[in-house]
Amino acid sequence: MAEVNPDSLFEHAREVIPGGVSSPVRAYGSVGGTPVFVSSARGPYITGVDGREYVDLVCSWGPALLGHAHPEVVAAVQAAASRGLSFGAPTAAEVELADAVRARVPAAEQVRFVSTGTEATMTAIRLARGATGRDAIVKFAGCYHGHSDALLAAAGSGVATQGLPGSAGVTQAAAADTIVVDYNDLNALEGVFAEAGDRIAAVITEAAPSNMGVVPPAPGFNAALRELTQRHGALLILDEVLTGFRVGPGGWLGLEGGYTPDLVTFGKVIGGGMPLAALGGRADLMQLLAPVGPVYQAGTLSGNPLATAAGLATLRLADAGVYDTVDRRSVELQRAVSEALSAASVPHTVNSAGSLFSVFFRAEPVRNYDEAKAQDQSAFARFFHSMLDQGVALPPSAFEAWFLSAAHDDAAMGRILQALPGAARAAAHS
Ligand code: PMP
Repeated sequence: MAEVNPDSLFEHAREVIPGGVSSPVRAYGSVGGTPVFVSSARGPYITGVDGREYVDLVCSWGPALLGHAHPEVVAAVQAAASRGLSFGAPTAAEVELADAVRARVPAAEQVRFVSTGTEATMTAIRLARGATGRDAIVKFAGCYHGHSDALLAAAGSGVATQGLPGSAGVTQAAAADTIVVDYNDLNALEGVFAEAGDRIAAVITEAAPSNMGVVPPAPGFNAALRELTQRHGALLILDEVLTGFRVGPGGWLGLEGGYTPDLVTFGKVIGGGMPLAALGGRADLMQLLAPVGPVYQAGTLSGNPLATAAGLATLRLADAGVYDTVDRRSVELQRAVSEALSAASVPHTVNSAGSLFSVFFRAEPVRNYDEAKAQDQSAFARFFHSMLDQGVALPPSAFEAWFLSAAHDDAAMGRILQALPGAARAAAHS
């Protein structure tokens, strides 16, 4: 394939696509420079249009648990494609995937498939309002649940990277029904419920927040959310779009246990790299969805056969060995990053939740969004670019988790470890 100059491609891209990208964080806005325009990916590597190869620590922002282009997943998608791309009709594979989800996450007694995490959480909110007859929802500052109106207030991920309080174009009415509370702050949440408990339809939380960087729930926090919502007749929506099937076969819920949410959202790994996400939950609530119940939700491409095939193959292949490998690599990398940064006297904190982790460029602990924001983003940018120059692609934002896969072998890890000392020195020098 002819090589392309990424700088001129980016310039052209910006003429025809806002920011040159289909999703904001991809534009390297907070780190500067030209994004890697990817032409192909395999295992732990991505290759840019200029032919440069990088060890990938983005993994498509989560889905590539097995590494890119796993031969068995690709074969499953090819086989499905040969039978037709989309039917707009039910398939046996959807039923099989729903069974697979339920076997791994018993809280998902029934499952409805959609195409994106945004749709899954948006549907969960509508369902919670339909079920309770209440309007308000509670979300936590720094948690990202996709880009539906109600959920954009104080959101993490790209909204955090851009330094936005929310989004233009969200009506005051939509914003007024969203109550934002600091993460890990049970007292504040209790105060909100004491004041407005009878208006609150649901609390939505990331199972282990990973969109303000990784900020794990304090021990007992999620269980306390369960107890508090139940006491006030509100639902608990656990957003496992990012953590589901990534931190373990049963997601964060499977690791933490001890409480049962009413609704759970899935995305990313469940589609194995194809557009597929899902909402699961208590059967009596799920029965409120159309066509059985009055809460409407639909999608032309929902349960798409190629996406379903990729998801099924991925879940089938994601055995204990896969999770052990990702866990081990994660610990190895966390330790190496911390050692390199310490050796260069760069203040930092590494937070983890299962195999998910991120590095904050500040010495003090990070327990919520304000503390996540109070880091040295320019040090991160220097670190990021040094890694990139040395052939390692990190998430291009200080507010994102680093993603590993089971395909990150000794060779890929070796390349990352070799790049760390130089990147740490770059971070140290402003
Ligand atoms: N919830 C969480 C926890 C997420 O991390 C994301 C995406 N990063 C979403 C929802 C939205 O998913 P999507 O980008 O597929 O709409």
